[in-house]
Amino acid sequence: MQTTRHLASSRRFRPQKFSEIVGQAAVVTTLRNAIVRGMTAHAYIFSGIHGTGKTTLARIIAKALNCTALSGDGEPCNMCSSCREIAQGESLDVIEIDGASNRGIDDIRAITETLPYNSGKSRYKIIIIDEVHMLTKEAFNALLKSLEEPPAHVKFFFATTEPLKIPATILSRCQRFDLERIKDSDIARKLKFIADDLGRPIDDAALDFLAVLAEGSLRSAESMLDQLFAYEKDSVSIEKIQKLLGYPTSDLFFSLDEAYHQSKAASAFLIADTVFMQGVHIPFFLEGLIGHFRTAVKLSLSLSTHTSLPQHLRDGYQKALSIYTPEKLF
Ligand SMILES: [Zn+2]
Repeated sequence: MQTTRHLASSRRFRPQKFSEIVGQAAVVTTLRNAIVRGMTAHAYIFSGIHGTGKTTLARIIAKALNCTALSGDGEPCNMCSSCREIAQGESLDVIEIDGASNRGIDDIRAITETLPYNSGKSRYKIIIIDEVHMLTKEAFNALLKSLEEPPAHVKFFFATTEPLKIPATILSRCQRFDLERIKDSDIARKLKFIADDLGRPIDDAALDFLAVLAEGSLRSAESMLDQLFAYEKDSVSIEKIQKLLGYPTSDLFFSLDEAYHQSKAASAFLIADTVFMQGVHIPFFLEGLIGHFRTAVKLSLSLSTHTSLPQHLRDGYQKALSIYTPEKLF
């Protein structure tokens, strides 16, 4: 029990099948179809910012490829010995390395030399290399040989945050999928699921706020949530998050709106002074200011109703909308 309790949310709540993956619907559908039809490529590159599910996706495909009880729609069973071994990182036929810390030619040779063999238990030998762009030129060359003449039972999955750093010779031998930033609403939903599962109370507005801060990275959002839960024993509100993470509170921005409304430059300076004296991290202040206007613009264009916002924040934004014309907001 102890280990489960201390496991980071990003690991504890890691998707175990395609239907649990957050976002990336088009990519997931394409890959699932390829598995069902037995038409998978021998090498894939998943690119995208950190925390969008690249290695999670690779592991699920690895399970599906070797599952002995694959469902009709391409989901791994998560019950057979292969699925369980892969989930626990104990499969002899699924090798996963971090390209940032195993970047040399010897690291890659250690893998490519084993390619002709597998344990005899699995259909495919699967190589997953995370942060593949970190490999040295020599390591890429060693890898290229295996990509040019891949044994039929071998599949490669490369994950990268920087696809432009991968040699064209490697790219041209892989099917590439770009994973998108995950939508705020999808991130908030997953965070809600985690909070409910852990029995931790948190406001919907607080979840939305965290989702926006995460900028499309589910892992970032999950680690911020872990941090909050570790620190805050009671219910988590948006104000508590702002305070805890060193973000200025929304009230500050509402007073700036008011200073603008009354054309009081002096008040604005006073507010700026307060921000500085409170030790608010200045880049956070600027981010917060942008976020403030983004929320106002969304509300003015009816792109969002922000029904999750607590009443006093909704009132604040209502007032802001009466102060600025839409052009001013932009
Ligand atoms: Zn299985």
